[in-house]
Amino acid sequence: MNYTTISDKITPLQLEFAARCISDAQSIAIITHQNPDGDALGSSLAMRHFLLSLGKTNVTNIVPTSFPDFLAWLPGVDSVIQYEQNPDAATSALRNADLVICTDLAEPTRVAALSPILTERFNRYAASRDSRDSVSSANSALLILDHHLSKVCNEYPEQIAYPDSASASELVFRLAYQLTQTQNVREDRGFVGVLSEDFATCIYTGMMTDTGNFSYNSCHPEMYNIVAILLTTGINKDAIYDRVFNAWSAERMQLVGYCLYHKMKLFPEYHTALITLNRREMYRFNAKSGDMEGIVNMPLQIKDIYYSIFMREDKIPPHQIPDANGAKVKAKISFRSQGDRPVNILAREVFRGGGHMNASGGEFFGNVDDAAKKFIEVMPQYMQKQ
Ligand code: 5GP
Ligand code: MN
Repeated sequence: MNYTTISDKITPLQLEFAARCISDAQSIAIITHQNPDGDALGSSLAMRHFLLSLGKTNVTNIVPTSFPDFLAWLPGVDSVIQYEQNPDAATSALRNADLVICTDLAEPTRVAALSPILTERFNRYAASRDSRDSVSSANSALLILDHHLSKVCNEYPEQIAYPDSASASELVFRLAYQLTQTQNVREDRGFVGVLSEDFATCIYTGMMTDTGNFSYNSCHPEMYNIVAILLTTGINKDAIYDRVFNAWSAERMQLVGYCLYHKMKLFPEYHTALITLNRREMYRFNAKSGDMEGIVNMPLQIKDIYYSIFMREDKIPPHQIPDANGAKVKAKISFRSQGDRPVNILAREVFRGGGHMNASGGEFFGNVDDAAKKFIEVMPQYMQKQ
């Protein structure tokens, strides 16, 4: 059986650019966004496996903040440097790498305390690009594989930035596939890397988590050709599902019950649900990073609820204190919607964030009650009544 009908989505310009970045680099740092989810960690570790299979030896994966336990089994995860645990190693790897690869990330400010260093890299990249220097000149090489709406999409056609792609992992797959399976690229560049089972496991995890196990953003037929190719490497997709989605602690299940029973407010006129969680409540349920993942999607299962907002309190990290106007805590906010009802505009205009039309995020300096008040105040402006 031949499953290999994958169109050449990555353009020749992008393919050539990525091939040159990778060929020219000795040391490579791969970084993804703060609070990494399955697609962030999956896409960045898949990139690691691909580069190792090409014979690259100096490859460092960096995450700005911790990742949830349900991802801690991914192949290669032990090699990941987490900034908060090892700031010096993370900083030096990011600063000194010949090439920085960003997966599931195109905004240098979405890497918590590493933002200043990544911003410098983006600036050097922009400058060397303008001056038509070699892109690989002194610490300016940058390769982006991302699926968020960002200025990279419009400004840098050589970068792999596709907001229509359901996951960054799919883009990493496409790059690896086109580099190794496109006859002329393979021969010109010697890209004979293999798509290994570990690579496929990481890609599948990212595709699965960013589509809610293929239940949204999941109507593109080629997505299933990619899954078919991944399966031929020997991965067990059912086991991957089990490891990611059936790994809850009892406390997590109880926390979800508490949110839905005690904390969910419905605004039927605006088809909206709002859940807030303060620090005391999170402490009560011993909530860990990742335990709140997915709560925001649940109210969308209610008939006639099309918008869901989830707010949780967080400490203000040191690098944000100057911006916080003296606030002691911040609310981290997730927005979800269904159909033709954008939430990214609200996230951007009111809550210092952004994202996709139906899945966005933002924040508010202050406690969750004040963040909720702010939201209720602007709800009539941003939520449609039908
Ligand atoms: P989540 O609610 O899962 O944290 O985030 C959903 C999506 O919203 C992310 O994939 C990302 O596109 C976007 N997002 C979340 N937080 C932020 C933020 O602080 N700034 C921006 N620009 N986008 C965010
Ligand atoms: Mn993603």
